[in-house]
Amino acid sequence: MPGVVLKTLTKRYGDLAAVEGLSLEVGPGELVSLLGPSGCGKTTTLRLVAGFLQPESGEIWVGDRCLSSPSGVVPPERRRMAMIFQSYALWPHMTVAQNVAYGLRFKPGVSRSDRDRRVAEMLRVVQLAGYEPRYPGELSGGQQQRVAVARALVVEPEILLLDEPLSNLDANLREEMRFEIRRLHEAFGITTLYVTHDQAEAMVISDRVAVLHRGRVEQVGTAQDLFRRPRTRFVAEFIGRTNLLDAVAAEPGVAVRGALKLRLASREPTSTAPVVVSIRPHEIELVTGERPAPAGANVLAGTVQRTSYLGDAVDYQVSVTGTDIVLRVTAPPPARVGPGDSVILAVAPEACVPLTGGAAGEEPGSAG
Ligand code: ATP
Repeated sequence: MPGVVLKTLTKRYGDLAAVEGLSLEVGPGELVSLLGPSGCGKTTTLRLVAGFLQPESGEIWVGDRCLSSPSGVVPPERRRMAMIFQSYALWPHMTVAQNVAYGLRFKPGVSRSDRDRRVAEMLRVVQLAGYEPRYPGELSGGQQQRVAVARALVVEPEILLLDEPLSNLDANLREEMRFEIRRLHEAFGITTLYVTHDQAEAMVISDRVAVLHRGRVEQVGTAQDLFRRPRTRFVAEFIGRTNLLDAVAAEPGVAVRGALKLRLASREPTSTAPVVVSIRPHEIELVTGERPAPAGANVLAGTVQRTSYLGDAVDYQVSVTGTDIVLRVTAPPPARVGPGDSVILAVAPEACVPLTGGAAGEEPGSAG
């Protein structure tokens, strides 16, 4: 099973660089999601890999085969890839069995009985055995997407490309299908690129997630890496909720803002410089009389401004004493303090992550 390597790909539409110097490695048998907001270049990247678009520069490799470089391009039908679309793209006049078999028509040496056997096997795998004679119009959205998955897998592609395959499904079915796609990936182990703008979907389905921003890969890592160790402001804000604080690195591993002094997760920046610090709301502990602040934590005094009950959590807004900073804190219910109460907050240095790129105060929602 080969992997995929994208080397400094660029694709322009007139003046707009939809993809700009994008590099990414997908290991053999790995499922990597391309995640990012609308217009960041996810679909363009997938279409470049499929060969439906040609880059102005850069290279695309699958294993030791170069599929695209300034000196030559392999056409889509010879790339040994299968693609699954948001719209399913099933033939409405063909039955389920005929749709799945369609992919095999160009495969040399596949006998009729072999084809029927492979179609039946694939429909069993996607849990649609018995649906062979139905037409797509007689299936639910989830079942149609399973047919599209079966049709893609039946040709035994080296690489599977999926472009927002679940976005036409309702919320419950989408959640169910995430696990189904992950199950199929584990069963077949095909190297896969998966485009989505849905963070939770990417986190459930992927081995690793590549966060795209303005046509480039901003950061790539496991869901946990991206959540716990975002490197840039964009990733910290895009993956989950966070507090962003503008501060100055006073000494290696320490950031200062007014009366606030925070020990950080790393010793960067090493010299005096402006720094943005990300702190996840659930990483901040409300210290009550019952339990002292954990040893080694940053300890901050503050006053509760507001509490909001969210069902499975309580959200507190706490102004930090001696500063203009308001931190969001999330803790399990019930609410233990209310507006006007003085509180002590504890945050482990590992939860105070220094970021690069952009001051915190540039957008609404920043802590300061
Ligand atoms: P979405 O999640 O909305 O599908 P995306 O991340 O997949 O977005 P792309 O479809 O790759 O984004 O588009 C990247 C940029 O390129 C966008 O600004 C888009 O408007 C532009 N673009 C895409 N296709 C074309 C085209 N055929 N002609 C001109 N501009 C295009």
